[in-house]
Amino acid sequence: MTATIDNPATTQRTATEAVHAGRSRQQPHHALITPLVQTATYTFEDTAALTDFMHGKTWGDGAPREEYGRYGNPTTRAVEERLAALEEADDALLFGSGMAAVTTTLLSMLSAGSHVILTDDCYRRTRQFVWQFLRRLGIESTTVPMGDYEALEAAIQPNTRLIVSESPTNPYLRVLDLPRLAQIAQAHRVKTLIDTTFATPLNVRPLAYGIDLVVHSATKYLSGHNDVLAGVVAGSADLIAALRGSRGVLGGVLDPHAAWLLERGVKTLALRVRQQNESTLRLAQFLEDHPRVERVWYPGLESHPDHEIAAAQMVGGGGVVSFEIAGTVEDTSRFVDALLIPVIAPSLGGVESLVEQPALMSYFDKSPEERLELGIKDNLVRYAVGIEDADDLIADLQRALAQG
Ligand SMILES: *Cc1c(COP(=O)(O)O)cnc(C)c1O
Repeated sequence: MTATIDNPATTQRTATEAVHAGRSRQQPHHALITPLVQTATYTFEDTAALTDFMHGKTWGDGAPREEYGRYGNPTTRAVEERLAALEEADDALLFGSGMAAVTTTLLSMLSAGSHVILTDDCYRRTRQFVWQFLRRLGIESTTVPMGDYEALEAAIQPNTRLIVSESPTNPYLRVLDLPRLAQIAQAHRVKTLIDTTFATPLNVRPLAYGIDLVVHSATKYLSGHNDVLAGVVAGSADLIAALRGSRGVLGGVLDPHAAWLLERGVKTLALRVRQQNESTLRLAQFLEDHPRVERVWYPGLESHPDHEIAAAQMVGGGGVVSFEIAGTVEDTSRFVDALLIPVIAPSLGGVESLVEQPALMSYFDKSPEERLELGIKDNLVRYAVGIEDADDLIADLQRALAQG
């Protein structure tokens, strides 16, 4: 009934890059760890040095240097290089949050009179930004159903500049056919931006399939410890250079200390994601066999509508599973309250398991009818699996399902 996603794309190199990429073998003060350069600005020895720098001449000993914190920081830069290596990208750019990464990228790539295509089941704030903010700036959008590639191609207009999607999506873990999307976009000379926060570069690397830009909320798996807000965009040198300029103007930079914490998290990304892939598949299988669970959404299960695409493109199904509990919204809340290990909280991707009922969290302000229209069932539970023992998590689920 169930199957493990088994993709030959190994994660071996990625695990090594997660530990080493972007660091020099010899660093200032012989520090093993990337030094935390907690400074807002940088000094110039004299006017000649300033003039040389401004005219793009090599500085002193030839080492690259920074001018002001909004334009760059060596700690942040080292983490950007590591994340670029993980995505097999030329370059990457960090931001103060995932939304700062998304909004800066969209503002930078779109202008009045242009058109953007979104897939539904896309991060709520991304949709809000496109539907409300970009609309006010004269940028039109079309939202197409996730997985409907004919509708997607039909939505492309002469002024379409960008297709924005996610994979896997929240909360139904829909998986995009990335080569198919890239082919459609390239045929029409439209750029593509994919949010793979839920997958991480351990499970899928969209640039390898011809996607132009990858974005992550690094708040989630990349940092992995629920203690940092950050965002990252990765892609070709040209696109990232343009975005770097926009970031300097729009100002959504990441604080160096947050970058330093993010780097510490990234070092254990491979260990965490492997464990989360494995545990989540086990939880999904357990839930699918339980009589009180009506439906389970996990791309690693054969019952998921995108299982075949996931099996072809992803190393593992990721650390989030969504499922529907038989009964009312209250029955579902009672089950959630009976769980002892996962904590009720938004977000995902950290070492602690988190649980939420989307109807009462992200969609609390909608009526049951509006929620159904948006595809959010009242009895849906989203479970973001941490790195606890899978046996403990399953025993906890079993006990909570047996109650009430
Ligand atoms: C959390 C999240 C975001 C927003 O990221 P922040 O770091 O919270 O700003 C964007 N996309 C997805 C898929 C997310 O899960």
